[in-house]
Amino acid sequence: MSQLGCPCGNTVKDNVVPCPTEGRLLRDEDGEGFELAMCREIVALFDARDSGRRDEWVRTALGEQYPVEVDDAGVVSDLMSKHILALDLAVSECSSCGRLFVQRENFEGELVVYSPDEPGYKRLLAARNRASS
Ligand SMILES: [Zn+2]
Repeated sequence: MSQLGCPCGNTVKDNVVPCPTEGRLLRDEDGEGFELAMCREIVALFDARDSGRRDEWVRTALGEQYPVEVDDAGVVSDLMSKHILALDLAVSECSSCGRLFVQRENFEGELVVYSPDEPGYKRLLAARNRASS
């Protein structure tokens, strides 16, 4: 989302990676389809590898310019990114008042704003497995 002006006066920025005020939202109804698509992709990758067609399959799935020397874990990670980016919505949390800005549709700029009943930054999108800063 880059930079948003919040009604509270704060500016919400995503200029660090990973960003503790940014997240992704996957609709429950899309989740099952995503998991099924990923399972099929992983099986297809392994079938292609076992039959000696891995490089051809990887380039078909991820593009002609994709570096085929990337290991299977990297290919699976990129396949997941490809599928999830087609479905998920960006979410930003104001680090001052806690408002959430949710993208209405994938690849669109319109945002829906949600205000918490109790204002304040809740670190909802900050990683739980990192030391807080
Ligand atoms: Zn705010």
